[in-house]
Amino acid sequence: MQPKDQLPLTDQDVEYSHFSCCGDEDLAFLRCPKCSHIWVECYECSTWYIDLNDLRKIASALPSGSGESPCCPECQVAFEDEHYLKQSHAGKYRPTAFQVVEAGLGRYLASHLHQIDQQTPIPLFIDDGAPVVEYAVLQQKLLPKGYQPRPHAECQMSPVGFFIIAKGSGIDGEPVYWLRGLDDQGQTVVGDMYYTLESAREFLLVEYGVQGASWVSIEPPPAPMAAQGTSVSLPGRD
Ligand SMILES: [Zn+2]
Ligand SMILES: [Zn+2]
Repeated sequence: MQPKDQLPLTDQDVEYSHFSCCGDEDLAFLRCPKCSHIWVECYECSTWYIDLNDLRKIASALPSGSGESPCCPECQVAFEDEHYLKQSHAGKYRPTAFQVVEAGLGRYLASHLHQIDQQTPIPLFIDDGAPVVEYAVLQQKLLPKGYQPRPHAECQMSPVGFFIIAKGSGIDGEPVYWLRGLDDQGQTVVGDMYYTLESAREFLLVEYGVQGASWVSIEPPPAPMAAQGTSVSLPGRD
């Protein structure tokens, strides 16, 4: 069985609260096989939300002429399949959770997909949608080097044993790396921003005195070869 984040997404996987469509929303992600653009369709009313960074931008999912296939709203290349929502085409026209996160759209994933899988608490992305690219688990939870807990201070720093690095983009589109130390509830305890992955990893040595921490990279999986939906079949438009 493949991990859930590597399977084509279903209509259970969109975070519906972002959308107020026709009142009877059935939402599914779509991904263009040519240009990889990702958008959302409400297949109840055939509305496309063509720019997930601006939900006011909508288009009709229905092609203009009869017998024509719809075109990608981004590259305008026509779909090869008229019934692209069919389960048998899932691997071709629907993204995986990783692909949605890679596109910076992780906030549109339903909450059950916010972690790498259901067992581990590694987040797929941080709050602004930047994908998590590496994580490190320490042997034991530590306080920063030289940190002196003050017995009566109101706000104590907690020891941390779990760190993530997320890759975002800065003002000029340059990559930036967000390092975060998380507590057991996944809340950020410490964090900083770096311009290289190496300097973000160095945080553990500089701030916590941890030599040779083993960072594990989270590689986006290859696109699924065949259609393998998880639970729900979308209707075809025959
Ligand atoms: Zn709708
Ligand atoms: Zn396209």
